[in-house]
Amino acid sequence: MKKTFTCITCPQGCLVTVEEKDGDLLVTGNKCKRGEKYAREEFTHPKRILTTTVRVRNGVIPLIPVRTRDGIPKERIFQCMRETANVIVDAPIKMGQVVVANLCDTGIDLIASRDVKPS
Ligand code: SF4
Repeated sequence: MKKTFTCITCPQGCLVTVEEKDGDLLVTGNKCKRGEKYAREEFTHPKRILTTTVRVRNGVIPLIPVRTRDGIPKERIFQCMRETANVIVDAPIKMGQVVVANLCDTGIDLIASRDVKPS
């Protein structure tokens, strides 16, 4: 199997190819080690940062933007989206505050992306 990815680790956007050969991964097209690491991870277990909104109770705004602190397995994104649809968080909220700890047992927290003052 062979796949090509655009490395998003830096603005150069190298096209990096990963090819599986005899149980080994051959990585080409990367200009640095960070690109190799990125491509290997994309090939074997891709992750994504989830960004969405959750409802706020007693805040000056009704919704707050949130994101996962780190990447979560790509195949778990929709499960995590469904989970966050039911979340309501009480104001006041501080940027970086944990809104949901260990989201869907991924080991990754969902955190607030901004402050929200109480109404
Ligand atoms: S391979 Fe290295 S230089 Fe190329 S986009 Fe990725 S991080 Fe940047």
